Amino acid sequence: MQVYADHAATTEMSEAAINAMTEAMRTVWGNPSSLHTVGQEAKVVLEKAREEIAECLGATAKEITFTSGGSEADNQAILTAVKLGAAKQKKHIISTKFEHHAVLHALEKLAKEGYEITLLDVHENGVVSPDDVRAAIRPETALVTVMYANNEIGTIQPVREIGAICREKGVLFHTDAVQAVGHLPIDVAKDNIDMLSLSAHKFHGPKGVGVLYARRGIRLATLIEGGAQERGKRAGTENTPSIVGMAAALKEATAHLEENTAKVVPLREKLITGLRKIPYSHLNGDRERRVPGIVNFCFEGIEGESLLLLLDMRGISSSSGSACTSGSLDPSHVLLSLGIPHEVAHGSLRLSIDETNTEEQIDYILEAVPQVVNYLRGMSPVWEDLECGKRKHFFAK
Ligand SMILES: *Cc1c(COP(=O)(O)O)cnc(C)c1O
Repeated sequence: MQVYADHAATTEMSEAAINAMTEAMRTVWGNPSSLHTVGQEAKVVLEKAREEIAECLGATAKEITFTSGGSEADNQAILTAVKLGAAKQKKHIISTKFEHHAVLHALEKLAKEGYEITLLDVHENGVVSPDDVRAAIRPETALVTVMYANNEIGTIQPVREIGAICREKGVLFHTDAVQAVGHLPIDVAKDNIDMLSLSAHKFHGPKGVGVLYARRGIRLATLIEGGAQERGKRAGTENTPSIVGMAAALKEATAHLEENTAKVVPLREKLITGLRKIPYSHLNGDRERRVPGIVNFCFEGIEGESLLLLLDMRGISSSSGSACTSGSLDPSHVLLSLGIPHEVAHGSLRLSIDETNTEEQIDYILEAVPQVVNYLRGMSPVWEDLECGKRKHFFAK
């Protein structure tokens, strides 16, 4: 059986998105900046996609800027806050220890340039406390950036409360909502969001395209200089087909949100209940506050990479952390931020499912994972030490 359980890394494009894209490639290949009819036809389609995407977020079309994906949107949001803060000598940024690298690495670079960065603790359950945000805000704080849902463990952050605190204090608030858009109901106004990043390939749209939402009145800084596309805030001929594909995928995901959630949550619960039966296993992140499809476990005494490869041999695509950390020997910064020790964090497995998965596939995963974990433990010197008491178990049996 083939089971794709790595939807947090990327998703297969939906038929609706593929059809919308191929149609756009055939019919509206003009340059939207051209003044002739061929160009203006592309422009019309582009602006329709912008309106449709805005509507799915509770935003207006003018607040939507197209980017090359989530990473670019995150970088542009941070640069915008830096530029706006510079005018007022604000050189302090608040974020969390378990953000995506698109945020963390951008902040590391700023730290080298003299910015002060506060990375908030995410506690054992992987949820940021709004009180911690409030306590960290200073007069010189230029930005608070906290992700909507974590990409490795799936925990949902109290975005609305954090946004309200930022409003009250007059601090810009950005959220990396790449794992949330298309999976959770989002309303930028109700959620008190100033800037939001999303990426099409995480909700069955094409890769290499995303959005930075910026509330009316926020002057975006530019990462890419050139022509006057995107009101001068992001140069380069617009990727009309991908943008149209993104709009089609988001409309579809938004229209079926409740139905998809109702299908995926029971599958996720079955997965969690089943995997918890494995001795010395641990579900990472809060039990309740999580996106429908992400499940992340640690299994003591094994290496996540070996687990992943053996599952792949059985047709199951999974991840041992985020795709970006796979291949490196460091354990995931997300798991370490939960207070899990290095050696235990190495034994992690992320399964991310969605409405395209079936109950038979979950049964197949629940048959395969305990067998592979047992097999790996049988060859593991660490497990032997744990068994004979030379090492102490970190989790309960
Ligand atoms: C995938 C992801 C990104 C990066 O998006 P790209 O479009 O691949 O650049 C950023 N943040 C989170 C939380 C993600 O899951």
